[in-house]
Parts: sequence; structure tokens; C-alpha cells
Amino acid sequence: MEPSMVYDVVIVGAGPAGLTAGIYARSKMMSTLILESGKVGGQLVALYPEKGIHNYPGFETVQARKLSDKLYAQAESMECDIRENEKVEDIIDGDQKIIVKTAKGEYETMSVIIAIGMGDFIPRKMGSPGEDELTGKGIDYILPQKEDLVGKRVVMFGGGNSAIEMALIADSVTDTTIVHRRPEFRADEMNVKNLNESNVRRIMNATVKSFNGKDRLESITLEQDGKEMTIPADLAVINIGITADLGILKRWGLDLTENGLIKVGVDMSTNRNGIFACGDVVDYPGKYKQIITGCGEAATACLMAYKFVKKPYWA
Ligand SMILES: Cc1cc2nc3c(=O)[nH]c(=O)nc-3n(C[C@H](O)[C@H](O)[C@H](O)COP(=O)(O)OP(=O)(O)OC[C@H]3O[C@@H](n4cnc5c(N)ncnc54)[C@H](O)[C@@H]3O)c2cc1C
Repeated sequence: MEPSMVYDVVIVGAGPAGLTAGIYARSKMMSTLILESGKVGGQLVALYPEKGIHNYPGFETVQARKLSDKLYAQAESMECDIRENEKVEDIIDGDQKIIVKTAKGEYETMSVIIAIGMGDFIPRKMGSPGEDELTGKGIDYILPQKEDLVGKRVVMFGGGNSAIEMALIADSVTDTTIVHRRPEFRADEMNVKNLNESNVRRIMNATVKSFNGKDRLESITLEQDGKEMTIPADLAVINIGITADLGILKRWGLDLTENGLIKVGVDMSTNRNGIFACGDVVDYPGKYKQIITGCGEAATACLMAYKFVKKPYWA
């Protein structure tokens, strides 16, 4: 950073909402910095890179990783300054400016758009014996690339849309079983129909007693209706939800809704002057956590940041 540089906008988070905000900001020629605590792409890359997205307009279906790559390429081509592995810790008011602090430095900006999605999120663990020891050695929390599944016996855990969709992806290349602790899935009807018509083996009402294996996962012992059974497995994928940590929002002095998310107006403004927000981190009546809504909110947040910073007579 040049010592005297003051950005027009700093965007916090480089998921689909943050990247879209960057694309819109640059089309208004705002100097734009995007700070991302991990890797660009948000949930699309961190949680479901292999999944097909069927509801993003303009693509009949697009693999999550590819949609993220396209957004990234578009933001870069518009000359957004994007920095990975740089988590925003604090956002404080300065003299006519806002100061955004990370472990690596401080950035001065005229406005901020917060697009941190679920904040620091980690996949939920099952808490079963053998899980910690075999994580990375046959136990995973996201589905590896299809090529790496071939020839492996995959066991998926979970009963929601995500678990079913991942099981169907695995089933397209290898022997796959899905294990759910309840008698029924809690997922979209279309996903359940597709599962019923697939070759995925289903084990319902079952819990894990232990993941077994010395250096790698070899088998899984389940309990179903009071009886134990051990099934062979090369890869267990645990897909039972995510633990999100958005505690940082309180420190940033933002008004939150009862869901712990940022309360925004229809113009994506927060209670803090010059700070706007978009994507999964915001809340308002009717909020729907999807890529398209996050991107739409990003466009609005960006227009409002532009008006706040540039104050054009016509806007
Ligand atoms: C399994 C699954 C399947 C889904 N399938 C679909 C689908 O088919 N279609 C659809 O439309 N939606 C789908 N969604 C929802 C969609 O992924 C989200 O709505 C979308 O990712 C939200 O985008 P975002 O940019 O707001 O947040 P995110 O994608 O969560 O990105 C936020 C980014 O901010 C970063 N960050 C967090 N804290 C900080 C910080 N302090 N400083 C800097 N950076 C930070 C994070 O590392 C992350 O990269 C799915 C979600 C899941 C979990």
C-alpha cells in the first residue's frame, strides 16, 4: 500500500457477494481493496467445490469451483486489489475516514462493504471415536475432486441437501453409501427423488460407534435399532452442518438482528456511517441466503457506497 493511499472502498470478504461488490465498485472507477481471511471463493470453494449449481441465472448448471473462478477472474480483470489470507480484525472510525485493521496492516478508506458470509466457519464434527485420529486419513468434511474418488468406497454422513447432492456426485464415479441418523431426509423433494433413483445405498436411523483403521480408515461401526454393524469404507465424508462464528460483528459496533446477523436497511446500510453490508451476513425480513441474492445486495451496497463517497449531483 502506498503510505498516503485512501481507498474509496474496502470490501471485507471475497465470496460471491464481496467479489460482485468489487466488480461494481470498479465499474464506477472506485479504488477498491478486497481483503479475504482465507482463499477467494467463500463457501463455493471451502464447502462445496464439486457441487453443481443449478439456480444461478445464465448457467443451466455450473460447478461451484468454476463459478468462483469466473467471479475471481472478472474481479481481477476489473483491477480490484484482492489480498488473500488477510483477516479483518477491526473497523474503526478515523478523521473523515474509516480505518480497517488486519494483522498485516491498516488501510484507510472512505467506505466499507462487509461481505463476510458466515465469518469463521468450520464443518461440524460427529464427535465419534476415531474421528480426530483419522481426519485427513480417510475422513474428510468436504467431498474431494471426483477423480480422487474413483475406486474408493465412499460413505457420506448427513441428511440434508448438501449430503445428498455430494452423495450423488460420488455415486456418479464410485460405490457410495449415505448414512443418516433419522428415518427421513430433511432435503428438497427433487434431491430425495434423485437419491431414490440412484445406486446410493441408504442406511437410515443409524449412528456411528467408531471409525476404525490404523493408518487409514478401513471400516465404520454403526448402530442401528440397537444392533451393531461394521461396514468397509475408504472415505467417510461428514456433512452434518457448519459451525459459524460471527462474534466479530459485535466488536465492530454493528446493530444485529436476533439471528446475530447484520441488520441492514433496504439500501444495505448498517447503523455505522459509510459501512454497508451484503450476502449471507445480512438480515432483513424475507432474507434468502443464496448466491444470486448476495450478488444483488452487493450491487445495491456498492451503489450506496459510491453515493456516500462521491456524492455525485445526479445520484
Ligand atoms: C452446501 C451448500 C450448498 C449451497 N448451494 C447453493 C446453491 O446451489 N445455490 C445458491 O445460490 N446458494 C447455495 N448455497 C448458499 C451460498 O453458498 C451462499 O449464499 C453464498 O456463498 C453467500 O455468499 P457470501 O459472499 O455472502 O459469503 P461466503 O461465500 O461465506 O464468503 C464470505 C467470505 O468472507 C471471508 N471472511 C470471513 N470473515 C472474514 C474477515 N474477518 N476478514 C476477511 N474475510 C473474511 C470468508 O473466508 C469467505 O471467503 C449453498 C451453501 C452451502 C453451505
